[in-house]
Amino acid sequence: MNNIRIAIDGPSGAGKSTLAQAAAAALGYIYVDTGAIYRTIGLHIWKSGVDPADTEAVIAELPGLRIELHYEDGQQRMLLNGQDVTEEIRLPEVSQYTSAVSAIPAVRTFLLEMQRELARTQSVIMDGRDIGTVVLPDAEVKIFLTASTQARAERRMLELARRGTPQDYENVLKEIEERDWRDTHRDAAPLQQAADAILLDTTALDFQESLDVLLKIVQERGRT
Ligand code: C5P
Repeated sequence: MNNIRIAIDGPSGAGKSTLAQAAAAALGYIYVDTGAIYRTIGLHIWKSGVDPADTEAVIAELPGLRIELHYEDGQQRMLLNGQDVTEEIRLPEVSQYTSAVSAIPAVRTFLLEMQRELARTQSVIMDGRDIGTVVLPDAEVKIFLTASTQARAERRMLELARRGTPQDYENVLKEIEERDWRDTHRDAAPLQQAADAILLDTTALDFQESLDVLLKIVQERGRT
């Protein structure tokens, strides 16, 4: 059987990673969280004190970066120059740095082949912002996952509390609006729905309902 590639794009907090992870487990596919790969660069820039708006300075850091991904008990782990940074990349400061550096075309090019390679030899569910449009334009299934800004802020607030870094609703909403704006307005691979992607709005759906709809789409589209 041929490999199936499922591309899931959408704004932050739409529930991409939780849903994609559950769907991958149900289907026996590998789940690739590309946001985590971008976050690894964001973390490095944050830690090294480089101004993320200084494009030349960010680009100068890239050759010194070794970014690797591996799976432990089915969970994707990120390594930066040999060090496991899986937890650190989730810090709220890293989210903003990541969104800023991922607007730089050279950063995107630096990570493009690594993402494509992951989908070459195995069936994958890959989530991000430009998977259906740039990374895997010929993916068998493309889904654009979204939800209202308020619903996304509420979900993100719960997630941050669960991770032990709670923030209040207003801050989280502001952070989401800023990231949405940057991710959709950048010139390089902006967040947008691919022409052949199916829109899945989860505002009024709970997790199980969203997963059921997602798996149904995969069943209808992926096996044709
Ligand atoms: O998905 P997550 O919120 O972890 O992604 C963090 C940031 O990485 C996003 O706000 C976006 O700027 C960037 N990103 C991207 N392209 C991807 C995945 C993430 O630009 N494919």
